[in-house]
Amino acid sequence: MKIAVPAFPATLLQALNGCGFEAYLVGGCVRDSLCGRQPVDWDITTSASPDQVKNALRRYHVVDTGVTHGTVTAVCDNQAVEITTFRVESGYSDHRHPDAVRFTLDLKEDLARRDFTINAMAYHPNTGVIDFFGGQQDLGRRQLRCVGTPTLRFEEDALRILRALRFASALGFRIEPQTAAAVHQQRALLRTVAAERVYSELTKLLCGDGVRAVLTDFADVIGVCIPELLDCVGFAQQTPYHNFDVYEHTVRALAALPSCAYLRWAMLLHDIGKPRTFTLDAQHQAHFYGHEKIGAEMAEQILRRLRAGNKLIERVTLLIRHHDADLEPTEPCLSRWLNRLGDEALLQLILLQKADDSAKSAMVRFRMSNADRLYALAEELVARGTCYSLKTLAVNGNDLLALGYTPGAPLGDALERLLQEVMAQRCPNEREALLRLAASWRE
Ligand code: ATP
Ligand code: MG
Repeated sequence: MKIAVPAFPATLLQALNGCGFEAYLVGGCVRDSLCGRQPVDWDITTSASPDQVKNALRRYHVVDTGVTHGTVTAVCDNQAVEITTFRVESGYSDHRHPDAVRFTLDLKEDLARRDFTINAMAYHPNTGVIDFFGGQQDLGRRQLRCVGTPTLRFEEDALRILRALRFASALGFRIEPQTAAAVHQQRALLRTVAAERVYSELTKLLCGDGVRAVLTDFADVIGVCIPELLDCVGFAQQTPYHNFDVYEHTVRALAALPSCAYLRWAMLLHDIGKPRTFTLDAQHQAHFYGHEKIGAEMAEQILRRLRAGNKLIERVTLLIRHHDADLEPTEPCLSRWLNRLGDEALLQLILLQKADDSAKSAMVRFRMSNADRLYALAEELVARGTCYSLKTLAVNGNDLLALGYTPGAPLGDALERLLQEVMAQRCPNEREALLRLAASWRE
């Protein structure tokens, strides 16, 4: 099998070979090329030590990335390539980092330390694919399998447990039964992994096409990272609007969304407040009063714990707080929501509501066509430059000062009131009309 190797990594391979070293493309780029995906980055593994790499590539800009682990980064045609010396790792007392790293001249030893068979293949234009562990067969079977004994490999480095789920989701692969059994069995080790690593793997997992199967089959593993979700698993909703328990509803709704980290995190956590707000009325119907607000607070705690970025936390909690908002496909209503959320967040909220409804009972699903109308109208309002904030109001504070308004609260209130009149379509967003209205309020 031939891989179309871009010029920049090919040049670096040649330069290393020219100095008498072995060098191969390795890992993700080989995997992605073999399954017809565009590789994200091109990594090289080589028999040369970091100093030898720097010497062989002295014509290029080379920076130390992790020399003790044998990694340098070379820049060629403005593209960065990580070059790592063949290495073996040993002694993982913290279940995450090797206690010792030893360089080796044997490619097979280097490939054996890698996590999954599909990630443990090397490639050179002269030799083709080098595959000691059945990676190509597993690619053909669309499955993830550990190199070596799964339980041991997860004990060495618990992050691999989440990487297994992440690749299964991103590639739409299944996890081979023995590897899957070890994932379940060793899941508690994930508690030893740094929060930011968990967050980054979870985000990639959530954005994958295979997310529904992974979240369904590995709820117990996700639950180690986000214990609050375990309360949702099997939590019956007992309302005519729902035909799935909270977790299954969540997973189905999430998979119906576009692949966007904000949307998928928001959906994962949108009903997390339900178990805590559950009440039954005299007719034995369930209610979850205030679950949006409590859910948004819980989501903030969870995401802070996972060291998510502020921008994501803000957006996700905003979407959760308003996920049951009553949006009507009318200009005044959408203008108010544009004013409250901004255009990007409102469009996301509409997508979130549509996907949320798609995973409810038939009684609610009819609303989904409404969502398309909402989305189209909101987009149109934005494109048309409709006024929904003080920034685009045709008058400003100075205009009202000139009319004799007192600076401070009276002036601010008047501006706000003018904006309300415009959004409710009771007054056009025109200077003369607005000034007349403001003047009439002073009389
Ligand atoms: P991506 O497309 O996400 O970059 P990738 O396979 O390139 O996928 P990286 O995290 O960039 O993943 O790692 C590069 C390679 O290093 C992997 O393909 C794998 O061979 C090896 N690797 C990375 N992390 C681990 C780990 N925790 N344990 C064992 N091998 C690993
Ligand atoms: Mg990579």
